[in-house]
Amino acid sequence: MTQKRDYYEVLQVHRNASEIEIKKAYRKLAFKFHPDQNSGDPEAEIKFKELTEAYSILSDGQKRALYDQYGHEGLNQQGGPGFDFNGFGGFADVFSDLFGEVFGASGRRRAGGGRAGESLRYNLEIDFEEAVFGTQAKIKVPRQKSCDLCGGSGQQPGSEPEVCPTCKGHGQVRYQQGFFSVSQTCATCRGEGRVIKNPCRQCQGSGRVREEKSLSVKIPAGVESGTRLKLVGEGGAGINGGPPGDLYVVIEVREHPFFQRRGDDLYCQVEISFSQAALGAEIEVETIDGKSSITVAGGTQSGEMVCLKGKGVPSLNGYGRGDQIVELVVVTPKKLTARQRELFLELAREEGDNSIHEGKSLFSKVRELLE
Ligand SMILES: [Zn+2]
Ligand SMILES: [Zn+2]
Repeated sequence: MTQKRDYYEVLQVHRNASEIEIKKAYRKLAFKFHPDQNSGDPEAEIKFKELTEAYSILSDGQKRALYDQYGHEGLNQQGGPGFDFNGFGGFADVFSDLFGEVFGASGRRRAGGGRAGESLRYNLEIDFEEAVFGTQAKIKVPRQKSCDLCGGSGQQPGSEPEVCPTCKGHGQVRYQQGFFSVSQTCATCRGEGRVIKNPCRQCQGSGRVREEKSLSVKIPAGVESGTRLKLVGEGGAGINGGPPGDLYVVIEVREHPFFQRRGDDLYCQVEISFSQAALGAEIEVETIDGKSSITVAGGTQSGEMVCLKGKGVPSLNGYGRGDQIVELVVVTPKKLTARQRELFLELAREEGDNSIHEGKSLFSKVRELLE
């Protein structure tokens, strides 16, 4: 086994270098030795792995402390021998911005230079019942469509695009920075390699024009507020032959005066009287499908729930329906007729309750009258 080099030496930083200094040093060196930049050079590959290993240790506070105290030996005892190159998650983080610009550019662009159209969001408000049963919604989406005059090229018909004078058609410009050269997307042509000298009069050279597109969107039964429906390819038109973006329809459901949604169940409150609660009753309740009747058992307490199976919302995945949960609320009468008062007093007497002062005097008054 060969002697391992000191990690600080590998990254060319001081032993007390800050996290940012270490990251900077790594980026600079790793860029130089990156396999994509040095195809087929085995020495560069070894250097790159060495760098990455050093960075993985020195960028991790705990590992760095171990290394500072015990050197390579300390790390071997800690994490076991060897170094898992693939398992190093920090790599992508450090490079995402840099490589996005330099290496990733070709990945995002298609061969023809086309770019994807933008994805759009459309907020759609629907009624409660429409969410429950589904509906067909008509929407108007403002978006960019391909210009029909120039066919999306941005070129005035009959004229030809010219090779970009800045990058000579490469779409990339190279410049020297320290020891290595960096290539960047050409700012003049934005990487297209060509410039439009004679722009299309209808789209001013952008290749796209605004339109208000009418669409009919099928809203499936069971959607709720926040549900996102994706309409593939209904976003902005692509640029220079790129694919169109998508359209996301985001659902907002209006509230219902009677029902509340709880997942696929519908919840509601129904008032019942003292007598219905005490004696039991058959009452009619509103359901999302129309009227239905429920049985109130004798001795029902306020707050008790009755379940109407299958009267809820159809599941969005197409299997079954939720239930309707009816909360029974026993209502205390606020105004009593003379007869009702009499009956309540009699009930109180039957219950042996002599706490009702007003009632007691009234009761005695009534008895006086009867005697
Ligand atoms: Zn045009
Ligand atoms: Zn250019």
